[in-house]
Amino acid sequence: MENSGAILELCKKYDSFYLYDEGVIRDSIASLRQAFGGAELLYSVKANPAPGVLRLIFSAGLGADAASLGEVLLAARMGVEPGMIQYSAPGKRPSDIEGALGKCTVIADSPGEVELIGRCAEKLGVTAEIGIRLNPDFTFTSDRGAPSKFGVDQALAFRLLEDWKRLPNVRIAGIHVHSRSQELRAEVLGRYYENMFGLACDFQDALGQSLEFVNMGSGLGIPYSAGDRPLDIPALGVRMAELTADFRERLPGTRIILETGRFVVGKSGVYVSRVLDRKESMGKTYIILQNTMNGFIRPSISRLVEGCSHGGEPAPAEPLYTGKGAFQFTALPGGGKLETVTLAGNLCTAQDIIADDISLPALYPGDAVVISNAGCYAAALSPMQFACHDAPAQLIIGPDGRAYDAMK
Ligand SMILES: *Cc1c(COP(=O)(O)O)cnc(C)c1O
Repeated sequence: MENSGAILELCKKYDSFYLYDEGVIRDSIASLRQAFGGAELLYSVKANPAPGVLRLIFSAGLGADAASLGEVLLAARMGVEPGMIQYSAPGKRPSDIEGALGKCTVIADSPGEVELIGRCAEKLGVTAEIGIRLNPDFTFTSDRGAPSKFGVDQALAFRLLEDWKRLPNVRIAGIHVHSRSQELRAEVLGRYYENMFGLACDFQDALGQSLEFVNMGSGLGIPYSAGDRPLDIPALGVRMAELTADFRERLPGTRIILETGRFVVGKSGVYVSRVLDRKESMGKTYIILQNTMNGFIRPSISRLVEGCSHGGEPAPAEPLYTGKGAFQFTALPGGGKLETVTLAGNLCTAQDIIADDISLPALYPGDAVVISNAGCYAAALSPMQFACHDAPAQLIIGPDGRAYDAMK
């Protein structure tokens, strides 16, 4: 497997760690840029906010999709321009809004929030240029809308627009939609982009002035299981270019924005956990690993969800659960004869198991298990406060094969 020499070397120093590959991050950014030449790209910080990872991405020219004031400030401190940070989250507090104004574009998530932003801007003596997050009358797979905790229902937003236009400290500059993550079908995303262009035109007409941006959110999926076909990014790029050309006349000055977390970092990371012990119980072989559920929770969640679904196909619930076979386990150094083992962690709960009765080359204390697809929603989502263990290290491996601390 990729980087296995470096991983074994790092195992001498760390009992559990994430390793993110710089080359994979750069390649995924390059493929997005090549396909979506006419669009601006924002990186969704919540997918992986390790400072070293952010530095790579921001230095490649991506902006930030921030899910909290903390993420706005993190991106701003790293030199991302206010125009390239968009702050979208439900339930912003006045202190969040006041802290964010001037550092980013705040995306209002509800009618109440439009007014709250107005009051915060008035208090600071500024005019806030905002976006409206819309819950559109379409989804990825339907021409009808669905209830959502995010955004303002499209029809309601159009009704309220006249009131919003009269707010003295608010100027509506754009719209934002993020419907769903982890879509692997280019034709579904192409249809969604087409709907988004149409919505942008209608909104602009209702607004009565030119729309400065349309943020189409994400949706770009990555292959998790062995059976997943990668999203055809070049084909989607061609569709986006056609749509951009078709709508250029109606939206001459509008910035087209795409945001993605997982596509940039998801495939770049592995999680490595060392074997602490092995034991037998009533005919089962348990391999005890360092920091499994607490260090990288998603394999444990997969086991939980699939255990509760009695053999059926559980629905995806991003970013907690993607689908069956989303994480592959590799034994290092490997090479021993295959045996059937259950991979468990070192937490004092019986639920700290990441795989039951799987076939792996024999593992002994000091060996390691490498888990794939650990670049996004991995370290950031994991409950490291549970049981006070040492947190996994987070490292980046550069093109020279040398690893450095991602947290600095
Ligand atoms: C999390 C999030 C994203 C990124 O989703 P990915 O599936 O990681 O690409 C994009 N936009 C918004 C608003 C989000 O909350």
